Amino acid sequence: MVTRNKNFTRLNSGYLFSEIQKRKQPFQKENPDAKLISLDIGDTTEPISEHIINGFKTASVKLGTAEGYLGYGHPQGDPILRQRIADKIYKGFIQPEEVFISDGAKCDIGRLQMLFGPDRTIAIQDPAYPAYLDTTLLMNSNLVYMPCLSENDFFPDLEKTPPCDVILFCSPHNPTATVATKEQLQKLIEFAKANSSIIVFDSAYAAFIRDPQLPKSIYEIEGAREVAIEIGSFSKSVGFTGVRLGWSIVPEELLFEDGTPVKQDWYRLISTFFNGASNIAQMGGISALDDADVNATTFYLENARILKQTLDQKYTTYGGDHSPYLWVHFPNRSSWDSFEEILSQAHIITTPGSGFGPSGEGFIRFSAFGNREKIEEAARRLTKLSL
Ligand code: PLP
Repeated sequence: MVTRNKNFTRLNSGYLFSEIQKRKQPFQKENPDAKLISLDIGDTTEPISEHIINGFKTASVKLGTAEGYLGYGHPQGDPILRQRIADKIYKGFIQPEEVFISDGAKCDIGRLQMLFGPDRTIAIQDPAYPAYLDTTLLMNSNLVYMPCLSENDFFPDLEKTPPCDVILFCSPHNPTATVATKEQLQKLIEFAKANSSIIVFDSAYAAFIRDPQLPKSIYEIEGAREVAIEIGSFSKSVGFTGVRLGWSIVPEELLFEDGTPVKQDWYRLISTFFNGASNIAQMGGISALDDADVNATTFYLENARILKQTLDQKYTTYGGDHSPYLWVHFPNRSSWDSFEEILSQAHIITTPGSGFGPSGEGFIRFSAFGNREKIEEAARRLTKLSL
């Protein structure tokens, strides 16, 4: 018999969202008529813009013709899509040769862990998107938690952060919904330089940022090109959570200690582990980045505003302005306890903050992904919440 990969024993037995499903079941059994509203998982709900759908259609029809058929694509992704990402999202900060198209940011997080290899020291925000923790543990790497609390404006205290090889950093942050300022990112870059660390900057929610003063990309900050990889996603901006399309940016200047360009090894790894994102998805991405207005985030930000208006009246509520999440403090009780109360009083499923890391204890994450009718109904029910 093959021995089990011992790193699996380091993981929590269930993924956070499976645990939520498990806890939901007994409630549903006892209350079969309850109309549950899910504000837990960060999954998009609204149809993809017709303009993008036409891009998919054109790509599919082409594949059925002798002249238009395409097999495996370029390992780094369609050059037109890479050019559009460089021009439209990075506005000249990044060259198309530095863009790698992928099947999503989560998949890139896993592959980046492969790039760095096992037994590293990896720092993550606490709380954090669960994939950061699990991929770190699976690689047998050492975990450093960087507490992000209301006391430090949800930005890590870098003076207390030990040196590490890699910093996985997300902004707008899932789950606290905070956006790091330019000054904060400058400090993070300085920290990475001083410790010879690489930052992996997860900008999956950048399209939600409305304040032009807030950075959408780490490359807006001087010095980032020497220390940072960025990962991005079409999932939340245009509703591609099921389509699957994302990208990573690895600048030419980013080097390993021995002088090897990180980009060189990333290209090698991508060519070895991955045969590229679906060409139909990539055509949809190209349509999403032409001049049509297809950004789906405005709808979800309005949902966030509706929920925030209600929650703000009774509870300390963070986020919602540049993020589809609300991070709400319910003092004097555990996150799971608040989860159970919200479920039983309002029939709403949320995500307990402690599921994202120890510093999330006492908080609940509300997701503003949902259709308007459900969000409005959720807001009505939350008005009556007594916690
Ligand atoms: N990064 C963060 C912070 C996320 O919250 C999510 C999804 O919820 C992802 C990445 C996954 O993105 P993708 O759908 O592109 O894999």
